[in-house]
Amino acid sequence: MKQYDALIVGAGYAGAVTARRLAEEAGKKVLVLERRPHVAGNAYDCPDSAGVLIHQYGPHIFHTNDKRVYDYLSRFTSWRDYQHTVVANIPGESGTPNQRLQYPVPFNLDSLEIAFGPQEGKRLGDKLVAAYGPEKKVTILELRHNPDPEIAAIADYVYEHVFVHYTMKQWGQTPEEIDPNTTARVPVFLSRDPRYFQDAYQGMPLEGYTPMFERMLDHPNITVELGVDALKRLELADGVIKLDSQAFDGTVIYTGQADELFGFRFGPLPYRTLDFGFETLPRDVYQTHGTVNYTVDQPYTRITEFKHLTGQELPGVTTIMKEYSRAYTGAEVEIPYYAIINPENNALYAKYADLAAQYPNLHLLGRLAEYKYYNMDAIAARALALADALV
Ligand code: FAD
Ligand code: UDP
Repeated sequence: MKQYDALIVGAGYAGAVTARRLAEEAGKKVLVLERRPHVAGNAYDCPDSAGVLIHQYGPHIFHTNDKRVYDYLSRFTSWRDYQHTVVANIPGESGTPNQRLQYPVPFNLDSLEIAFGPQEGKRLGDKLVAAYGPEKKVTILELRHNPDPEIAAIADYVYEHVFVHYTMKQWGQTPEEIDPNTTARVPVFLSRDPRYFQDAYQGMPLEGYTPMFERMLDHPNITVELGVDALKRLELADGVIKLDSQAFDGTVIYTGQADELFGFRFGPLPYRTLDFGFETLPRDVYQTHGTVNYTVDQPYTRITEFKHLTGQELPGVTTIMKEYSRAYTGAEVEIPYYAIINPENNALYAKYADLAAQYPNLHLLGRLAEYKYYNMDAIAARALALADALV
């Protein structure tokens, strides 16, 4: 059997970035095992049957302030400049329920004027800016604590029209019940900047995410085996890791679920999963923005139209995707997309992390393995840092 110096489970950001650096900079022979039939993890994209480039596991927009991450990934792709904008789509007020309203999310000074009318919206916006400062970002939970009755009324409006129903759909819980860092990702923004992110580097890999990963993993020291469940070939017992029944003392980087690695012995970690409803339509364009959030009604949270993101020019056809969130049950077809961060679940995760620490050559890395809500750039940064330590 071929000898490997390092074993990496998972070919998403965590796996691909560490594989490349161990192979290239440390000259290690790296085996990457990936359960899915493709690389790129949840960032995987591919053309659908109509030829529209879609994101199979939900819309992925790259954005970062971390120059090192941007530079590293830029070795494997050029970028299409894309600044993501999102609008909330809500039913009109009681007299005109069929006339829907759209305004920018993060809720900003323009949203305020659309919601409250130009004059009143401007006056309220000035008041918010006087209270918090221009271009400031204020989380909805913070805004709700403001004692000024007019600001409290704005906070109630935004809470009701942007946050509470969307968050109930996404998490099955209210904004107060979930980790406050989650709603803080989309603060009220006292600005007229309509962009979803303000990061220095934003864009989409020019030919897509999958080719970027294929290039990253294309190295003579890297072997990728697709469609392989690593847990069928790994055994962990008494501080020793076995691969294919033989002790393996090389580096092991595991980017899957921590609970699954240890046979769920302390019980399963809770997650939210998503069902994606793809629809291909015979028209050039379906909606005004890359993503439209349905923050008040509809069973889905948001609709993404991929052509806005990718800039693909394909007349007469477009593909959209609706996202439906629900509890992850562990069924084989389900994918655990979001860790549910709270003290109880973090404590359960810590038990698995303690077990992992008994294996000196084992590293848990990634959104699943670390049970965290990481964006792509955060995982790439963590992968670079782990590689720094190992190379
Ligand atoms: P993953 O991409 O999940 O990769 C882990 C890989 O390990 C998977 O391919 C899995 O199949 C494999 N694996 C697991 N267990 C095994 C096993 N036993 N054997 C073999 N292989 C195994 N981030 C952004 O920055 N911008 C966005 O716009 C954005 N949008 C998102 C939208 C959605 C709906 C979701 C769910 C996430 C989004 N993210 C976004 C986050 C992004 O997906 C993650 O940060 C990133 O994918 C994490 O990379 P990873 O390598 O940790 O995990
Ligand atoms: N959120 C909301 N309404 C919105 C957008 C976001 O209530 O219109 C809340 C919701 O709880 C969501 C969280 O903010 O889960 C983070 O949103 P983000 O768009 O960052 O989620 P992701 O793209 O990671 O699913």
